[in-house]
Amino acid sequence: MHGAQALAAHLALSEDEREGITRASFPASATPYYLSLADRDDPWCPVRRQIVPSTAETRRGRGELADPLGEDRDMPVPGLVHRYPDRVLFLATSRCSAYCRHCTRRRRTGAPGASAGALERAAAYVRAHREVRDVLVSGGDPLLLPTAHLTRVLRAFRSIPHVEILRVGTRMPVTNPFRVTGELVAALRRLAPLFVITHFNHPKEVTAQARAACEALVDGGIPVENQTVLLRRLNSSSRILGDLFRRLLTMRVRPYYLHQMDVAQGLEHLRTPLEEGVAILAALRGTISGLAIPHLAVDLPGGGGKVTLQPDYLVSLDARQAVLRNGRGKTYRYPQPVERDCSCPYESTFYGSSEVR
Ligand SMILES: *Cc1c(COP(=O)(O)O)cnc(C)c1O
Repeated sequence: MHGAQALAAHLALSEDEREGITRASFPASATPYYLSLADRDDPWCPVRRQIVPSTAETRRGRGELADPLGEDRDMPVPGLVHRYPDRVLFLATSRCSAYCRHCTRRRRTGAPGASAGALERAAAYVRAHREVRDVLVSGGDPLLLPTAHLTRVLRAFRSIPHVEILRVGTRMPVTNPFRVTGELVAALRRLAPLFVITHFNHPKEVTAQARAACEALVDGGIPVENQTVLLRRLNSSSRILGDLFRRLLTMRVRPYYLHQMDVAQGLEHLRTPLEEGVAILAALRGTISGLAIPHLAVDLPGGGGKVTLQPDYLVSLDARQAVLRNGRGKTYRYPQPVERDCSCPYESTFYGSSEVR
C-alpha cells in the first residue's frame, strides 16, 4: 500500500483533506517512517500538513507561476539549470521518497524521470564551461537512486578538473533516514569536497533516527547543511524555528537557508508575508547562537535568482560615522576611520598579474 491509500489508512482524514487528495494534481505519498511521525488526529500537525493535500492547493493565487524560478528558461541542456556564472544545478531524478506539499518544482516532480543521455549532455556542458566550479545535484531526491547510479552521476562531474565543489540536495535524512548507510557515506566521502544539503522544516522531524543519519554523514567526513522552507502556520514562529535551528546545530548540521516560499501554483496558503521572515530573524539574532541562524533567501519570481533579506540595523551612515541600532532597539555610534584606501598592496604579489579564477 502506498500513496493516498496509506495516508487514508494511517490518518483520520478531515473532509478537506479527503477532497484535497482526490483533487490533487501532484502525487501524495510518503515513506512509512515519515508517515509515522504524523499526528493521526490533528490536521495541523506540521508533518501531516507537509504530506497531505488540502483543497487550498487547487486555488490559483495572484502572481503564481508554473515555473516560479524561470528554471526551464535557464536550462541549456535538459535537467541542467545554469543561472549563476560559477554554479549549476543538475536535476538527477524527478522522484522523491515523500512528496512535499510545498514543492516548488511540482511542475516536474513525480513525472517520468530524467531522459536517457541527460547526464552525458549535462557533464559535457559543464566540461565545456570552465567558469563552473560548483555542481549542485538535486531533483527530485538524488538519494532515491541506487548508490551505484548516484555515484556514477557524481563522478561524471567530479572528474571535470575545474569543478571544485559538489553538493547533493536531499530530504532523505528527514523522510527515510535509513537510506544513510555506511556504504552510502563511504561512497560520498570518496567524492570530497562534497556537501550534503538536507531539508528539515520542524523540530518534530529531528528524531533519534534522523539524528543518527546526519551524524553518520558528519562522522564520515561529509559536511551537512540544512535548508528550511518558511511555511505559514507550520513553522512561521521564532520559537519553532529557533528550536529547530538549535537542534540542527547539536547534530552538527548548519542551518544554511531559510527560504521564503516561491510563487509556485497552489501554494499561496503556505506563503508568509515577506516581513514575517525578517521579524523571525530579528527575534533570533542575539538570542540563539549565530552559528544556528540561516540566511533568509527570496528566489525572485521569473528567474532573478536568490537575494537575502535581513533586519536593518543601520540607522544612518556618512563618511564620519554610522549610527546603528541593536536587536533591543538601542542606538550606538560607530566612528568611521579617517583613512579610506582599502586596496591590498600584497594582493598582486600573492596572485601575480594573472586574473584569479
Ligand atoms: C539556489 C541555486 C543555486 C545555489 O545557490 P547558492 O546560493 O550558492 O546556494 C545554484 N543554482 C540554482 C539554479 C539555484 O536555484
